[in-house]
Amino acid sequence: MSAYETVIGLEVHVQLATASKLFCLCPTTFGRPPNTNVCEVCAGMPGALPVLNRQAVHFAVKVGLAVNCVVKPRSLFARKNYFYPDLPAGYQISQFELPICEQGYLEIQTGDGGARRIGITRIHMENDAGKNIHDPDKNISYVDLNRAGTPLIEIVSEPDMRSPEEAVTYLKALYGIVTYLEVCDGNMEEGSFRCDANVSIKPTSSAALSTRTEIKNLNSFRNVQRALEYEIARQQDILDDGDTVVQETRLYDAVKNCTISMRSKEEAHDYRYFPDPDLPPVEISEKELEQWQSELPESPQSRLGRFMKLTGLPEADLEILVQRPAIADFFETAAAKADARKVANYILGPLLREHNAHYTGLPDPGSWAMKPEGLAELVHIVDQGLISPKIANDIFGDLFVSGSMPEAYVRAKGLGQISDLSALEKAVEETIAANPAEVAAYKGGKTKLLSFFVGQVMRATRGKANPALVNELLGKKLQ
Ligand code: ADP
Ligand code: MG
Ligand code: ZN
Repeated sequence: MSAYETVIGLEVHVQLATASKLFCLCPTTFGRPPNTNVCEVCAGMPGALPVLNRQAVHFAVKVGLAVNCVVKPRSLFARKNYFYPDLPAGYQISQFELPICEQGYLEIQTGDGGARRIGITRIHMENDAGKNIHDPDKNISYVDLNRAGTPLIEIVSEPDMRSPEEAVTYLKALYGIVTYLEVCDGNMEEGSFRCDANVSIKPTSSAALSTRTEIKNLNSFRNVQRALEYEIARQQDILDDGDTVVQETRLYDAVKNCTISMRSKEEAHDYRYFPDPDLPPVEISEKELEQWQSELPESPQSRLGRFMKLTGLPEADLEILVQRPAIADFFETAAAKADARKVANYILGPLLREHNAHYTGLPDPGSWAMKPEGLAELVHIVDQGLISPKIANDIFGDLFVSGSMPEAYVRAKGLGQISDLSALEKAVEETIAANPAEVAAYKGGKTKLLSFFVGQVMRATRGKANPALVNELLGKKLQ
């Protein structure tokens, strides 16, 4: 029994997938040439006035509702003042005293099969900063403001997690929600979903929390896990030496797998928050909130439960099917027309393999030529014995790219299995006649040779014989 207990609270930044920025009409497109998505507002010109993007409000509320928050009918934007080259106005516009959502929670599964409730303190809206790009060779730094003004929500949890595994489970659940709701593109490498991890360790017997450190800007689940593990061990060492942990902000170095001090509490900013005089309070009417609530899709958890019943497959396998409503819809449409478990296995295997070979990012059925009806038909013609599972695999790539209906495709290419008895009988008889030694051995008791004969017949028919029929015929003829 360890005498210490880990305490973790996460601050998660989610970039909202709105077409334009939070306070201006500039596009949020990633990867454009530097400083091309910029106007007076997001460049922080004095006198340029911000206008709130209502879509961002809707997205923030969707997340709030999905994590059981109280949505505030009135919330406020404040100026958070600090100087940094990628923050042209000299302040970030963020919600401070009155955030848009409060007091939510998220239920997560624990390793032992139970569930735990992680409190969500608040969700607030804010604009993202630009990016500084440093060129050490030329000893020059550049500022790219394309990202400046991109809408973010920050989801702040209670210090309710007790291990790095729990923190990652919580993060994955949140990630699942924001991508499923399609309020975030989920691209973690591009920084669309990133988190600051706060961690402390305290004597198990003590109720009071200890001094924490905050690890900034983690942008992969693996880095969250490893940074927390490192930081917990570091704090444990400090306590074991009889020293005290200092409150500070640290950075995780993924290459060296360690955290390094960035600034201590004494150096922490005093942001001098005050309500932004250029922005009126954000108001959400009861009617609008009801409307948004009614438009929320069935939760991924609930759908996952139904899919588990439908297919008998484990949760871990099916999670990817509820990453986006469109993929869940694709599965459900196909599963209504063919064996659900086989449909799921085709999606989880060959379909996602093809997706990854042709596209980047999360599965997006909208971009596929293959439709659910096509996949259902493929499962169907394998079940019927028109083609073998092997042929189905061989032609899958073609079907995916062309969107052809499988039965017509198979018939056009002459790939259908030979189920015609007389043709198969002929192939079986020829095989028996060509292998007298094996026939004698088989009759002498080496019944294992049956698979040899099946193989020979399959070869003779170039894989098109119906294997069940071949087995049956061989059994009879070799008696
Ligand atoms: P700040 O705004 O300075 O970052 P907050 O009080 O908003 O401080 O806390 C930020 C995060 O730190 C929250 O997610 C919270 O749950 C977590 N947290 C607070 N105290 C502790 C602690 N002692 N150990 C671990 N996490 C903590
Ligand atoms: Mg913080
Ligand atoms: Zn702009």
